[in-house]
Amino acid sequence: MKQFDDLIIGTGQAGPFLAGRLAESGRQVAIVERKLFGGTCVNTGCTPTKAMVASAYAAHLARRGAEFGVNVGGKVSVDMPRVKARRDAIVQESRRGLQSWLEEMDNCTVFEGHARFESTHTISVGDDRLTADRIFINVGGRASMPKMPGLGQIEFFNNSSLMDIDFVPKHLIVVGGSYIGLEFGQMFRRFGSEVTIIEMGQRLVRREDPDVSAAVHEIIAREGIQIRLNAKCIGFSKRNDETFAQVDCASGDPEVSGTHVLLAVGRLPNTDDLGLEKAGLTTDKGGYITVDDQLRTNVSGIWAMGDCNGRGAFTHTAFNDAEIVAANLLDGDPRRVTDRIPAYALYIDPPLGRCGLTEAEVRQRGRPVLVGKRPMTKIKRAIEKGETEGFMKIFVDTETREILGAVILGSGGDEIIHSILDLMYAKAPATVIQRAMHIHPTVSELIPTMLGELAPL
Ligand SMILES: Cc1cc2nc3c(=O)[nH]c(=O)nc-3n(C[C@H](O)[C@H](O)[C@H](O)COP(=O)(O)OP(=O)(O)OC[C@H]3O[C@@H](n4cnc5c(N)ncnc54)[C@H](O)[C@@H]3O)c2cc1C
Repeated sequence: MKQFDDLIIGTGQAGPFLAGRLAESGRQVAIVERKLFGGTCVNTGCTPTKAMVASAYAAHLARRGAEFGVNVGGKVSVDMPRVKARRDAIVQESRRGLQSWLEEMDNCTVFEGHARFESTHTISVGDDRLTADRIFINVGGRASMPKMPGLGQIEFFNNSSLMDIDFVPKHLIVVGGSYIGLEFGQMFRRFGSEVTIIEMGQRLVRREDPDVSAAVHEIIAREGIQIRLNAKCIGFSKRNDETFAQVDCASGDPEVSGTHVLLAVGRLPNTDDLGLEKAGLTTDKGGYITVDDQLRTNVSGIWAMGDCNGRGAFTHTAFNDAEIVAANLLDGDPRRVTDRIPAYALYIDPPLGRCGLTEAEVRQRGRPVLVGKRPMTKIKRAIEKGETEGFMKIFVDTETREILGAVILGSGGDEIIHSILDLMYAKAPATVIQRAMHIHPTVSELIPTMLGELAPL
């Protein structure tokens, strides 16, 4: 039995930061990783996809060259082995950097293998038995495998296996019209694939407000991507070399044929093979480990951070979880999950930046609200850059002038949203940003203008 002060399972977005803080404070820490250091974000999620989105953007801009008076000379083509090599180099640098940082850390011992609880304070990793007073779970999640008829007959990809390909699929069928499906769909269209996105719901990115879904739909469709909504009965079959997806939509062909299929239909927590029952840990019905506002599980001395606790599904929420745990345990600072304001981006081009409440959530509050909205076609910087798709929108409480939420779908939206997010954290009224002098020409300079034109929702 190897004894430690603290044990961390998983090297995703929370574990390594916490390992650093705990080890620095003098605790003897063990951290366990069963596969790739850095977890989903570094290896099969954020980093590789955004590297590929950048390649896809380069191809898109090259094709649009003539619009800007730039002659590219000939048909633009994409060299997928080089796209992959560029992406892999970025990923490997990040993964290796993290692994060696952990391995060289004082007071930290790295174990490679699958960790399973043996009891409340003991886990097994291969032949090793590790024990500690405190255990922190950061096991993340994986792509879910839906039960769709015919899946056994075809080959298909998920976000991980798609990382292995070094060719441009002729016709990629993407099942799932939400964040991951849309990013991959637009990216492969720009690489040169025909793309069909099949979505079960009535609109793309259903968690967003209808006007956001409609604008995203327009952006995606304008690039020649086929979108099939209301696909109530998705199934697959293979005939000759072609893969067929049954969609059973209210209108259009009941079947779509393609060469490759990507499943992007949600994520599952990696908690089914962790021996949670041996530690007496409880989960919700989706398998997410139940935690309180400071990420303590139902068992004293065990915390759960990141995607596996169901309190967030992003790198920044996982990292913030680690900051909350470290603040509580090491800094005497009682930070909580509910201190944070929801914020995220969708990395299609142009990107969607979101923070705070949606319009649907704002309406549910039942208090008077003001709304400001401005299309990108009325923003000079967007016009100058030739990126006039999308809009920005903001909700403000009529009485307190508190900012409740915002959307920036358009050029630079993933970055610009932070000026609003930070003001929300400062709990400052919207008038602060309305009176601020912003730089010209930027998309951000129209935020004060938009706030000067608020109208009742
Ligand atoms: C295609 C895609 C794109 C994404 N893009 C973004 C984005 O742009 N921005 C964003 O914020 N989020 C993005 N995400 C989500 C983001 O990747 C996750 O929210 C984030 O990685 C969660 O971090 P985590 O620490 O909870 O878990 P993970 O990063 O999944 O790490 C968990 C780690 O635990 C290890 N592990 C699991 N079980 C065990 C075990 N029993 N023993 C030992 N080790 C174990 C795993 O191998 C893994 O390394 C994306 C996700 C996908 C799939």
